[in-house]
Amino acid sequence: MFIGHYGPAFAGAALEPKVKLWHMFAAVQLVDIFWAIFILTGIEQMRVIPGYTAANPFDLYHMPYTHSLVMSFVWAGFGAGAYYLVRRGAGRMAAIVVGAGILSHWFADLIVHTHDLELWIGGPKVGFGLWHYRELSLLVEIGVLVAGAYLYQQYTEPSHPLGEYSPGLFLGFMIALQAFSTFGAPPPTPNAAAITALFAYFALIGGAALLDYTRKSKVPSP
Ligand SMILES: [Zn+2]
Repeated sequence: MFIGHYGPAFAGAALEPKVKLWHMFAAVQLVDIFWAIFILTGIEQMRVIPGYTAANPFDLYHMPYTHSLVMSFVWAGFGAGAYYLVRRGAGRMAAIVVGAGILSHWFADLIVHTHDLELWIGGPKVGFGLWHYRELSLLVEIGVLVAGAYLYQQYTEPSHPLGEYSPGLFLGFMIALQAFSTFGAPPPTPNAAAITALFAYFALIGGAALLDYTRKSKVPSP
């Protein structure tokens, strides 16, 4: 999954005003950021096989450290703990929301991935395989994203003149990125896929920071 991951990110930042949207954007893709780094360094492996699924050509045959269920809990635990320590003022609930965001990645991936998500390192592999249906997987990605963004729109208000338009513009940009990734020419090599992914993840974190700058929460902080 790609932009669908950001549905839970929007929802988390909407419901817990102490967590910035860009923190949630980093949290929900944390394991994929490390996946890209692990692909580039050879710790995890994939193949690019044109036509492997209808939505993308990625045979993700070895990613036990970033995409097994057990390790997802470990990443979420470390992430929440680190957030709690670094942003002491934000409190326990903020750290829990960030941890839940990290964990949401695996469950969102479960919907679209083929059988490549291990339950534990070396364990059985699962995946519901929605990537075999290109248009349907695209609709689900957009649906999950829009549902989260709707919550964000409801629970925040402009704090800058641009804040009126920033969510709509950002959403359009994200859907365009997803369409490009689904219908555009696929990256030719695993390293190209990893580098493209890293660029996209950090660009989207930057976009989320712009939304943080132009909008503020309507939820009263205790
Ligand atoms: Zn993933």
